[in-house]
Amino acid sequence: MRNLRYFYLTDKLYQMTYQRAIHWFRRDLRIADNSGFYHALRSSEEVVPLYIASDWKGEHHWTGPARQQFLCNCLESLSKNIDHLGGQLIIRQGSAVEVLEEFIKEHKIDALFFNRDPDPFGKKVEKQLQQLCSEFGVDFHGHKDVVMHDESEVLTKSNDSPYRVFTPYKNAWLKLHKPKPLPKPRKITTPKGIASDSLPSLETWGLEPTSCDLLEAGEKAARERLKNAVSNVIGNYHETRDIPSVKGTSRLSQDLRFGTISARTVFHAVHPLTKDPSSIVRKGAETYISELAWREFYMAILAHYPKVLEEEFNSDWVGLPWEKAGESFEAWKNGKTGFPIVDAGMRQLKQTGFMHNRLRMITAMFLTKDLHLDWRLGERYFMQQLLDGEIASNNGGWQWSAGTGADAAPYFRIQNPWTQSKRFDPEGKYIKTWVPELKDIDPKRLHEAPKDGNSLTKDYPAPIVDHNDERKATLEIFKAHKG
Ligand code: FAD
Repeated sequence: MRNLRYFYLTDKLYQMTYQRAIHWFRRDLRIADNSGFYHALRSSEEVVPLYIASDWKGEHHWTGPARQQFLCNCLESLSKNIDHLGGQLIIRQGSAVEVLEEFIKEHKIDALFFNRDPDPFGKKVEKQLQQLCSEFGVDFHGHKDVVMHDESEVLTKSNDSPYRVFTPYKNAWLKLHKPKPLPKPRKITTPKGIASDSLPSLETWGLEPTSCDLLEAGEKAARERLKNAVSNVIGNYHETRDIPSVKGTSRLSQDLRFGTISARTVFHAVHPLTKDPSSIVRKGAETYISELAWREFYMAILAHYPKVLEEEFNSDWVGLPWEKAGESFEAWKNGKTGFPIVDAGMRQLKQTGFMHNRLRMITAMFLTKDLHLDWRLGERYFMQQLLDGEIASNNGGWQWSAGTGADAAPYFRIQNPWTQSKRFDPEGKYIKTWVPELKDIDPKRLHEAPKDGNSLTKDYPAPIVDHNDERKATLEIFKAHKG
């Protein structure tokens, strides 16, 4: 029988309604400041903290071993944190709809809580679950959590339509009240006798072990990274964020991706610095907050225009004749293009599951503008390698670099990888970290095509293309398509 009790939740009077609810963990693998979990615990006598591991095997279009291993590590940490508060993380594998249907039938569930997903795949499952819950008389509570402002909140004043350009979006986004972090739960009561599978491992998806050097996963590690960013990075972020050889960014992207920290918590830790007496610190914090807005901008673009996963956002460029994968794609993936800065980025990605933002732009523009390869090939490869692989930001970043996206670089603004290299890694420190064959080469020679067309050392390839020729070819392709 439902136990009706009243208590105050935020500014509304709510009922302590449920005997037993599920909180379905998805990309919110934390107990602190977790909207759906907080509300489940506040309104239910017992909560089943449930994670459903997906049931694909082998290769996946949008993920790979490094990210799945990081996910496993996040789940291990979440499970310990839940144990610590007296509860138990229940693990199942399968399709979310089937597993939840079985759960609802077997365990007398009154309500389902979860945090809403920003991508179309997650939204589709939510619709099916809403139907399922209504059939079984189970209350259905989807919370906003992944973003501070979802796609329905930041719309143009003139006609309530989505923003297609970042700066006005950001200005509107900044004006909205940012919800404060929620308190951490003190106790979790999980019903007794519910069987759980063991925590997933790479074998769950038939994947081989990864040799990637992974960052530490989980809420504690994410909080440490935030603490470090606030103390040592944000104050000068606008200066350091573009220098890949220094620790000049927060390194929180995988934590925001898996929800081991919330965007609210990050925002409220950084926001006080926008009032700092030092104008440099203020600038750093403002620039950082702008990046959080980019994240939500791309999520809003994906929500309003899910077709971006198939085609170019800017309809002028739909059907551009991109080339198909071949040898040059393999050279790009393996960091063997003969362009040291490109190769350094691609090798950092392969070895760590991370690539610095400046390098993501350089390598993406190289793939699309120097090799003329389809941005979707790069988009997919990044998703399979990145720990922070985020469908919306990755698609946004790729379409930006290809010149086809929302508020993208115009097609004729083609970055020169040699100039980028000289500007952002003048001493070649980043290059030499990831391309050790070049450690003894004079830095100046790393930023220009070898004059004789030869390679820089015997173990390193000569450039696979001539940037100036490929730049001209790209301009022709775009112009011809427009014409
Ligand atoms: P910081 O510089 O410390 O930024 C703080 C946070 O802001 C990041 O953690 C991230 O959540 C957000 N952010 C920063 N820059 C961007 C941006 N340009 N777009 C959207 N959000 C941003 N980011 C992802 O999280 N996942 C991806 O799959 C992804 N793919 C990308 C692909 C390409 C081709 C490009 C050009 C960019 C991509 N980005 C992606 C954006 C950006 O490169 C990363 O968010 C950033 O490098 C992560 O490092 P950080 O946490 O130290 O970032």
